Amino acid sequence: MTVSEQPKYRRVVLKLSGEALAGSAGFGIDPTVVDSIARQIKEVLGFGVQIAVVVGGGNIWRGQAGSSKGMDRATADYMGMLATVINALALMDALEKHGVVVRVQTAIEMKEVAEPYIRRRAITHLEKGRVVIFAAGNGNPYFSTDTTAALRAAEIEADVMLKATKEAGVYDADPRTNPNARMLDEIRYLDVLKENLKVMDATATSLCMDNNIPIVVFNMNTYGNILKVVLGEPIGTYVGGGQRDVEGHS
Ligand code: UDP
Repeated sequence: MTVSEQPKYRRVVLKLSGEALAGSAGFGIDPTVVDSIARQIKEVLGFGVQIAVVVGGGNIWRGQAGSSKGMDRATADYMGMLATVINALALMDALEKHGVVVRVQTAIEMKEVAEPYIRRRAITHLEKGRVVIFAAGNGNPYFSTDTTAALRAAEIEADVMLKATKEAGVYDADPRTNPNARMLDEIRYLDVLKENLKVMDATATSLCMDNNIPIVVFNMNTYGNILKVVLGEPIGTYVGGGQRDVEGHS
């Protein structure tokens, strides 16, 4: 395949898990790692691609962890949503240090800290070349930030959801325990759901499927991978409807 320097996607949603911001410590925020992500996002912007980011919060707090220890689930989930706001501010700060114009929009209002989520306003920001960071999940307990990313991707009519992970892509078995695990170049949404593959939760996968939003699962730890995906290099795993159509992965 030929790799053009023309971006393959016009508007993307990048899903960053909290862990992606934590670096090797696995918790908290590593400013060096966040800075590296910010630089990579800036490179992608340089190609005229519109980027919205959905940040997770697992490096600080996960609702399920709290509820499994006896907390009220909804309360624990609100704590998780607030954790994503902390991460969003860290990424905003790093991007601004690189001269990128950023707007954080939260699904739970906190006007002193960030804008509330307003879909049309988010789209305007993107059209002006600003990065929009969506924080506080979708504002509801019992959801994940993966589902939020799928939802926002549908709402802002993104061409793709880029799911940054620690693995190279989606495997047919767990690569950490099975040495024969094979990375898949492409897989259908339905097979992800049927085989219960750990791409993201079923709600998020279904939402992408119902709205024909392709997902590219790729390794975030390799510098430059976001740009490679956006330029159409065949890295990671493409999750879609079955055939790589004209807008497909390669
Ligand atoms: N969360 C929520 N509703 C949402 C998004 C997130 O309640 O719409 C909570 C949930 O408790 C979750 C936590 O926020 O565990 C952090 O999000 P997530 O686990 O998706 O973060 P990631 O795994 O991407 O770091």
